[in-house]
Amino acid sequence: MICGGAEFTPLGAHKGHALFGCRECGFSFVHPMPGAAEITAIYDQYGSNQSYAGKAKRKVQRARRRIRRYMKRAPGKRFLDVGCNVGTAVEAARELGLEAYGIDIDNESVGIAHNLFPGGHYHAGPIESLPPEWGNFDFIYSAEVIEHISDPHAYFAALTPRVNSGAVLYLTTPDAGHWRVPKKFTDWDEVFPPDHLIYFTRDAMRRFLDRHGFDVVKFEFYLKPGLRVIARKR
Ligand SMILES: [Zn+2]
Repeated sequence: MICGGAEFTPLGAHKGHALFGCRECGFSFVHPMPGAAEITAIYDQYGSNQSYAGKAKRKVQRARRRIRRYMKRAPGKRFLDVGCNVGTAVEAARELGLEAYGIDIDNESVGIAHNLFPGGHYHAGPIESLPPEWGNFDFIYSAEVIEHISDPHAYFAALTPRVNSGAVLYLTTPDAGHWRVPKKFTDWDEVFPPDHLIYFTRDAMRRFLDRHGFDVVKFEFYLKPGLRVIARKR
């Protein structure tokens, strides 16, 4: 899916979903991918957003630290959180003086975002439905989202036409290449399809982003098996 490699290591199965890893780039994935109906059903179960709202203040602070670290590199003030959940990063960006927008597939989360942080702009729907009147963006924020996507190329193909040249991308996702990932892949607590469907390594992420017009600036050091990528749109 990422590097064109054709040799895959079977990584076991979780709840009947078989997993494979690319021998070339380490990208790991569920195969076959569950259908759209099964994936949509997961999001309907995300009723736990009430407890998310309780932790919102701390999450705003964390997002603010992350955004402040990189916002000066962005060519402008237009910020988009893809997979904005209850709007904590949108609020953080707004407090930092950015024009803050958020999109999320989950209606309920976006409803909560509207109530908790009414200063932001929100839209509920898939990335393909990003409102045209929102224009283009200078800072893309995506925290723990891409691992849920069955077709990341289609996802980024819908996103990148709306990203300005020079824009900053801050993306986090589990790190399948991290030294702390268990030898038996399915023992890793990030492996729970059909919720998480794809797992990047640094190598796979660099190749993926390059294909979509982004150069990796750096991977932040992280003791836990998570990728925190800073990239720039060419
Ligand atoms: Zn590969």
